[in-house]
Amino acid sequence: MASSRVISETGEWICPKCGSSAGQYRCANCGFRIYAGFFIRLLCQAIDGSAIWVVSQILQLPMFRSYFFFIFTNAASFFFFRLYFMVLTGLWGQTPGKMLTKIRVIRLDGYEVRWSNAILRNIFETFLVLIMFWGYGMALAHTSPHDFNLLSAPEREEFLGKFMPDFVGYCLLARYAYAFSEFFVLLFNKKKRAIHDFIAGTVIIRDPRMPFLPWRRDSSKP
Ligand SMILES: [Zn+2]
Repeated sequence: MASSRVISETGEWICPKCGSSAGQYRCANCGFRIYAGFFIRLLCQAIDGSAIWVVSQILQLPMFRSYFFFIFTNAASFFFFRLYFMVLTGLWGQTPGKMLTKIRVIRLDGYEVRWSNAILRNIFETFLVLIMFWGYGMALAHTSPHDFNLLSAPEREEFLGKFMPDFVGYCLLARYAYAFSEFFVLLFNKKKRAIHDFIAGTVIIRDPRMPFLPWRRDSSKP
């Protein structure tokens, strides 16, 4: 992974719009703001959210078909969602939503992200999902794979609804609350950092010069 510096620790950077050297939050020459704010982040979230929603709908179709399918679809959606954010951020500092909106995640010290930043940025969601899996395990412990498979699909759904511990629902609520909190928290600091940016030591910047495909980036330039 390239480790070129994008902005300096004091917040100095070359304005991607006009090329003059800029400092802190905006370019004095053309007014370009380096830190990605509310609306562009919302658009980015809508794009990534839609991509994930489509995949989750496909994965959920066979969920109640059998014991195996229930475990497989839940595990597959966990890996897909977390790898989507973790791996793409670790590789390029960008998810497809960020590629389309031309924003990227960098470290607070101005360098490109490392894997540790990408993992920390997703650590809270990962933790919640692992707790939810534990809840699924507690519900499934009330039956055997054989007995579960004897039920009809609606009965399987009903069975899981009956034995699923309450904390699974609270974890789901916490995931939504966490996702929404991002948009409120970024309004209250000048670098527009959300909670996961504070956890991971990252910040999101705008860079309209970036090619749509991140592997086409010229790594000799910031
Ligand atoms: Zn400028």
